[in-house]
Amino acid sequence: MKRHTKWNDIQTALGVVAACVLAAGTVGNAAEPSDTAAEISRLTANIHWLGHDGFRIDGDGVVIYTDPYKISGGPKADLILITHDHADHASPEDVAKIQQESTLIVTVSAAAKKFSGHIQIVKPGDRITVKGVPIEMVPAYNINKFRSPGVPFHPREAGYVGFVMTVNGVRIYHAGDTDVIPEMQHISCDVALLPVSGIYVMTAEEAAEAARILHPKVAIPMHVGKGIGSLEDAQRFKKLSPVPAVILPME
Ligand SMILES: [Zn+2]
Repeated sequence: MKRHTKWNDIQTALGVVAACVLAAGTVGNAAEPSDTAAEISRLTANIHWLGHDGFRIDGDGVVIYTDPYKISGGPKADLILITHDHADHASPEDVAKIQQESTLIVTVSAAAKKFSGHIQIVKPGDRITVKGVPIEMVPAYNINKFRSPGVPFHPREAGYVGFVMTVNGVRIYHAGDTDVIPEMQHISCDVALLPVSGIYVMTAEEAAEAARILHPKVAIPMHVGKGIGSLEDAQRFKKLSPVPAVILPME
């Protein structure tokens, strides 16, 4: 009995120590570091960054690209999602590298003119399921980045989009060219791809604010790496982000 009691005391003491370690480990961190790391790799495993706003996302039997720009090629696309008509997002030269007969391009009407083949024109608020991939179109626009006084680079009225796509059960938000906008309060996502370069889109500081509003499980900076914005912006975002942030290697 005596030994048993002593063992109980040791267990209690160990429990207290374990609880303290856990408490210390959770300061400034939502979960145990190892759990977070495993979850981040699971969520980002099939997301490949091609520089700027270009990503290749490998779904189950479906290859999705976003805003391919200055890419070196890759597996042929089933879906190409293009946020708006600016040259660093809607690039016919880059689309040609990955387009095949069956490729479907999903984009806004202003950008559709630049491409041929199968094209589905969308606008903010639309919801579609194409090639088995549910996609919601959300607004993308500037509130404080101006081309000239009173003229934003991306006016709300232009109807440019961001995409929330569900791939392998993971909700991925590609924000497009945007500032922090009120609509973000209603976007739910596991992974947020956020521009961080400033000038035309959110700065790293503003992207951290977007991450606070969106509260994804992981945030990935973009709109850098291909001559617009610098990787330093991505590093600054990673430091400021209130949620785990990962700078993907550029492929
Ligand atoms: Zn743009």
